[in-house]
Order: sequence, then structure tokens, then C-alpha cells
Amino acid sequence: MIAKCVLKYKRVVTVQMKQEVEVSYKIYQDHASNRRIFGFWSAFVPCATQNKDAVQLTLEQIDVIKRLIDKYPQFLQFSTSVTGILEAHSARPRKIASLIGIEGGHSIANSLGVLRSYYQLGVRYMTLTHTCSTPWADSANDPPVVNGLTEFGEKVVREMNRLGMVVDLSHVSDNTTRAAIRISKAPVIFSHSSVYSLCNHIRNVPDDIIQSLKENGGLIMVNFFPEFVKCAPNATISDVAGKY
Ligand SMILES: [Zn+2]
Repeated sequence: MIAKCVLKYKRVVTVQMKQEVEVSYKIYQDHASNRRIFGFWSAFVPCATQNKDAVQLTLEQIDVIKRLIDKYPQFLQFSTSVTGILEAHSARPRKIASLIGIEGGHSIANSLGVLRSYYQLGVRYMTLTHTCSTPWADSANDPPVVNGLTEFGEKVVREMNRLGMVVDLSHVSDNTTRAAIRISKAPVIFSHSSVYSLCNHIRNVPDDIIQSLKENGGLIMVNFFPEFVKCAPNATISDVAGKY
């Protein structure tokens, strides 16, 4: 069967695997050298799996990501640390350090034990929500219920800090985002968002959060999805050139 791997917002690569899966890939590029520094493979499972088989499917995503990396050792190197990223970089020919992230807190099924197990498997970031809220954090796509983080939600952020797993806030509601930045002792990321000043979209980051991000030391990985940068179905390079 065929596994389809989406290089997020870039292109689609098709590789031969034993089961059908879809994983997305986010590339982190150094603007100075224009080199690809590393990539995060997203172990994403749909919101419909929440309270059902989200954990099993997330484990299967992690498995297929690892098998994919193993299949192309000439290009990819599984990495879980800065040292691993630097090793992939110094290899000749240079390899793309390949890390794993989980896109959606529903994947932990309200369990810190599951969160810790993902870390042991190599997961190094988790987006607190996808397009569905969890019982402990609100998604930007759902009406707010928690309006921040519950006590358990705060524990999730603290445990991610303790483990060394990056807190990702793309997809997360603004008030849950503000709470997470307040709680987090480590820099947070927005793995694929843009900014309100370009387009007032629920997936974009408002100015006050950008200000708090400065103090937190976090960063926004820019997303060129047309709806986010132009509030329209189509955008061109001139719509984003010089704006970031
Ligand atoms: Zn996403």
C-alpha cells in the first residue's frame, strides 16, 4: 500500500509503505544560510478519535514516521535533541534532522502517563489542541469552555516543561494560549500560525500574545496558508514578502 507524506503546504511525497497513513512535515529553515535545519514530522490523528482510539492511532503514526526515516537513511536522521540535530547537519552528505511532534492534546487521552510515554518514544513537541477542545484546554475552533487551562491543563504544560517537550500553541484559543505562556517555564512555539495584523483569523496570533512571546523567548513559525496571510483563498509571494 501507499503512504502519503505531506510536506506541509509545500508538496506531496509518496513512498512505498506497508500501511496507508498520512503524516505532515514542517520544515524549519535558517534564513541566513537558507539551509533546512530540521523537520518535525507531525503525528496527527483526527479529532474524531478523541475518547476513542486516539492513543493507538498516534502510536501507529509514530511507528510509521520512524519506519519512513529508517527507509531513507541517506536523507533523514531521527533526532530527539540539539546534539542529534547537529550530528545530522555535520553528516556528509548533510541529512535533515527528523523530529516528531504531536498535533493535538486529544492524543494523550487525559493521561500524563501517555504524555511521558510519547516523550520516551521521541516526541519533542505537542500542540495543546487541534481543531477540537480537550477537557483541559480550548481550541480556537470551538466555543470557549475552559477559558484558559484547567488544573490538569496546567499540569500538562508543567510536565512538558519538565520532560523537555515543547509546548505548541497553533490551533489553541487565545485565552488558553495566554494561560499556557503564563504557566510555561520554557519558550513556547506556534508551529504553523501567522499574525492578526496580516489577517484577523482565529489561527493567527494577536499583538498582545506576540508581546508576551518576546518575554517568553518563544517563536512563531510562519504559515503561508492564503487564508491566514490574506484572509482570502489566494495569495501570492508579494502578499508576504517583506512582512515577516
Ligand atoms: Zn495544524
